[in-house]
Amino acid sequence: MPSVLAAVMTAPHQPIELRELPFPELEPDSALLRVELSEICGTDVHLQEGRLAGVPYPIIPGHVSVGVLERIRGQLFDVDGRPFAEGNRVTFLDVHRTCHRCRACLIDKASTRCPRRKVYGITYGVADGLTGGWAQYVYIKPGTICIRLDAPAGGSGSPADGLGSREDVKGSLSRMRGGSTASVSSELFMAGGCSLPTALHAAERAEIRIGDTVLVLGAGPVGLSCVAFARLCGAGQVLCIGAPDARLEVALRMGADKALNFQTGRALSAWGTGFQRDACGTGSQSVGGTGFQPVHEGGAPGPNACGTGFQPVTCSTGFQPVQECTEQQRLEWVRSLTQGRGADVAIEAAGAPAAVVQAMRFTRDAGRVVIVGQYTNAGDVSLSPHADINRKHLDIRGCWGSDYSHFHRAVEVLRTDYGRRTWGHMHSQRRSLGNLNEALDEVAHARSVKLLVTP
Ligand SMILES: [Zn+2]
Ligand SMILES: [Zn+2]
Repeated sequence: MPSVLAAVMTAPHQPIELRELPFPELEPDSALLRVELSEICGTDVHLQEGRLAGVPYPIIPGHVSVGVLERIRGQLFDVDGRPFAEGNRVTFLDVHRTCHRCRACLIDKASTRCPRRKVYGITYGVADGLTGGWAQYVYIKPGTICIRLDAPAGGSGSPADGLGSREDVKGSLSRMRGGSTASVSSELFMAGGCSLPTALHAAERAEIRIGDTVLVLGAGPVGLSCVAFARLCGAGQVLCIGAPDARLEVALRMGADKALNFQTGRALSAWGTGFQRDACGTGSQSVGGTGFQPVHEGGAPGPNACGTGFQPVTCSTGFQPVQECTEQQRLEWVRSLTQGRGADVAIEAAGAPAAVVQAMRFTRDAGRVVIVGQYTNAGDVSLSPHADINRKHLDIRGCWGSDYSHFHRAVEVLRTDYGRRTWGHMHSQRRSLGNLNEALDEVAHARSVKLLVTP
């Protein structure tokens, strides 16, 4: 009897083990997905460090994955009522069993808070079957919703029973043909991976208006995708604070106008057609109206004209770190780019509790703050309810998980030229099932932008 090779996280702080697991018995209306790519995200680091409650170890991590439907038992439909066929390339909503009959689902309209939902690779474990992407196969349980990555075949699918009138379905099919029908490569989708629905949800919560200055705190995959979605939402200016420079350079390519490396005090910018960075760092003196003292190549205050002297990207060669920016210096950087007001909208995608308070302080009066980076409890933080919230008339919103709409629309964005170009900058590297302990360490220490898993 052949078996499936899977990388198993047996318990927190334990090395990943390779195990051979049996192929599942397919229940009616289920499928077997041959995994092409999965990913290692920050959540997997949290899982290995035991920072999430209710995880049924041992688990097969890998909540967002793409692959090919190798076997289907019964029928599987997309949201437009088209049947999936064996051989179709898909991703799937990692959230399963949202009940649509509890208070969160029906009354609060917050289905990501449904207590019955289960998540592949996180709250499903080995006992639930092949429920994570760090394996050769994933079991697509009945009720799991798949999303087609290849171009929808124009009208070739027959509508499912019970999905409304034939006219409704015909209408939706013709609308699909009228929109973008390009395929999304597995590599492109997974370059964004779970940051896509997460960041799309955050951008939605942020209600960005045309012309807004949007500040993104954090330059991990979620922060980078937030930058791109903010741009897509019509932001007039997108700023990003994060580290290291390699990630900030990706942020500039994905739509940020300016970025600040908080570890070194180095500011970067993308202006004009080419990609450039300036050599301005943070400092205590005001120069040229920007509020920042220029820092020359060696990191010490120098004669560079901050307001005008943009240096090509090569100026990073031989750069010595200055020192971590203080909160005040970061605030001054944001204010220098917002006529002293602060950002209209800030999205916290950093993970450190202090970043939440900074997001509030870096936002203008009556602005909006969305918190999406605090996926695990990293501790408490102090703030002034009076000065930081009440007097500022601030709108602060949490953002938890994602639902089907976020996955679906993320794929639609990737079908466009904008999506292909933008997420094409999010370079990913591949790791095999046998190298995931080192890979987790790489992600934990931000040594790469994005790591994918090839079973
Ligand atoms: Zn529910
Ligand atoms: Zn993830």
